Amino acid sequence: MTTPSFIYTSAPQRVVFGAGSLQHLAREIDALGARRALVLSTPEQRPQAERVADMLGAHAAGVFDRAVMHVPIETAREAREVAARLGADCAVAIGGGSTTGLGKAIALDSGLPILAIPTTYAGSEMTPIYGITEAGMKKTGKDFRVLPRTVIYDPELSLGLPVGMSVTSGINAIAHAAEGLYAVDSNPIMDLMAQEGIAALGRALPAIRATPKDPAARSDALYGAWLCGTVLGNVGMALHHKLCHTLGGSFNLPHAETHTIVLPHALAYNAGAAPEAMAKIAKALGGSGGAAQAVYDLARDNGAPVALRDIGMKEADLDLACEHALKNQYPNPRPLERAAIRALLQNAWEGVRP
Ligand code: NAD
Repeated sequence: MTTPSFIYTSAPQRVVFGAGSLQHLAREIDALGARRALVLSTPEQRPQAERVADMLGAHAAGVFDRAVMHVPIETAREAREVAARLGADCAVAIGGGSTTGLGKAIALDSGLPILAIPTTYAGSEMTPIYGITEAGMKKTGKDFRVLPRTVIYDPELSLGLPVGMSVTSGINAIAHAAEGLYAVDSNPIMDLMAQEGIAALGRALPAIRATPKDPAARSDALYGAWLCGTVLGNVGMALHHKLCHTLGGSFNLPHAETHTIVLPHALAYNAGAAPEAMAKIAKALGGSGGAAQAVYDLARDNGAPVALRDIGMKEADLDLACEHALKNQYPNPRPLERAAIRALLQNAWEGVRP
């Protein structure tokens, strides 16, 4: 096989990985040249945010604990005001994609450097992509100002991530890598990271289900999340991410669960048009069958939902979801075909094995 032509650009970003690496927080804030950090979290993760603020001592400007899903513009404005009022010169986001997203909204406006401490596997910390919801519409964009300058991956912080969320968040990460393998702008580095990321999560998720506080499995999962998030940040996504964005945005479905349910069906849709990518996904998951089936089995066997009807999607809304998915053309290995995408949505709604 000859090496195809490619373009590869890397963005400067520092990653500190390892059990207990939160202990290096003060050093990392210092390395950013910052003196006063505003710590961001959801209300649920306030105790973790307070721990972080305690570790920073005089270098903590305060805690803002109002991060919520989809970054409402009002919350972003409030957080920006709090950061300015407290004289913060950086923000530390501890949590999942919603908290990182709030940090990004602050950085977009103010240029404040963000240090992210991810506690789920969503991968937002590795991307320059932001999303802000205004008047019920989530706008997304790409801007390197929002890319966290430093990321501390400490698997000890995800020991308490509930098993259900761990599995769906892990498959959310796999989705980034899977679509990265057939991206129109793929490159060999991202290919390697994608395969390694899928394999790490494929190993880790059943181990976490068996022993939720298994340090090795948690470490493996977070390592996989880093790799998959990097792929998301570097190459373009396709049908699967478009469908999930539509389902999450227009029908208010939960993010990680939606990814988990849709991915096998999106892969089945693209299987014939991207056979090499599918073989890599299936191999990374250790299966001898197809990629779509391997992902479905990973979800089902580890207790994750496999049907959109089980997470609040109405069958009557499938036609509208299909319309949204077809609205703007975007690169995808297989052309967007109305009847086949409608059938994909029906299968995902029913939860049939592809
Ligand atoms: P989330 O951040 O909304 O977290 C869900 C819940 O889990 C929250 O209540 C959170 O506090 C809690 N939680 C997080 N970590 C925990 C832990 N270790 N223990 C206990 N509870 C914990 O969920 P998510 O799936 O990480 O992120 C989803 C959001 O991120 C979506 O809005 C999505 O669009 C966005 N996202 C953006 C990008 C990007 O590149 N911009 C990438 C991925 C996801």
